[in-house]
Formats: sequence, C-alpha cells, structure tokens
Amino acid sequence: MKATSGNLRIDQSYTMLGQEYNGKYNDDVCGETCENCEKYITNIAIVKGSDDNKFYRIGLDCASTLTGIEPDKIAQAKKILNKKAKLYKELDTTIKTAIVSSEYNTAWLYDYDLDKWSTGFRWRINYEAFKDVINNGKINIIIEKDK
Ligand SMILES: [Zn+2]
Repeated sequence: MKATSGNLRIDQSYTMLGQEYNGKYNDDVCGETCENCEKYITNIAIVKGSDDNKFYRIGLDCASTLTGIEPDKIAQAKKILNKKAKLYKELDTTIKTAIVSSEYNTAWLYDYDLDKWSTGFRWRINYEAFKDVINNGKINIIIEKDK
C-alpha cells in the first residue's frame, strides 16, 4: 500500500451522515484515530460506504478526498465544528457559571458570576451531552429547582 493511500476502499462512493467534535480530550493518548489514515482526529466525519454499507469515523480532511462527498457538506460540517471548538475553548477559559434546568435538559452558560437564570448568557446547550465537559472544576454549576 502506498503511503498516500488510506484504509478506506476507493472503488466505492461515500455519503456523509454527520460530524462530531472530539474536544473532550486534550492529549493524543486517549484521542480517537481516523479509520482511513490512522491519525488522531478532533474533527470527525461519519461516512457510509455505498457498496459495503459500513459506517466509518474519519477525519474531515480525509472525508473531503472521498468520492461522493460534496464540498458543500464539508464546508457545512466545518462551520458546525468550528462553533463547537469555540464552545469547548470558552468552557475551558471564559465561562464562569452554568445555570442548569434538569427539567428542560438545558444549561445556560455565562461569562460572569450569577445565582439564577438571566438573559445575557453566551450559550444555551444540551445539559446531558455536555455534563462531563461542564464539570471541569472551573465552572460554578447551579441546578435550578423545579417550580
Ligand atoms: Zn484521516
């Protein structure tokens, strides 16, 4: 196999089904690797082969080289992932308070101290999906009581 070629078959086309940002990991040790080139990836594309019907998790860069994946899809995924990267960065640096509603499974993120919900939040996110990330020791988490 040539060094430039990847593990994924090139004799079929692919469909892109979604993207994920792997921002939970700050080091390569527990990171995820691309199923095509085996490099560590943070911007992950989930693609499906047209022939083998298998799902693959690969880097967005690798996805852009596959047959059948439209540049528009890549551009759109990049936009979404850039926003996620920004959120992860802010969770690590500027976010001070998270007001959480378990009832609505929502967390509102603020870059200042406060003790109850208010407008002026920077982000509104899915609480369950980000629970572990918010709980980084730097953010004051306030769980709202049910009324
Ligand atoms: Zn790759």
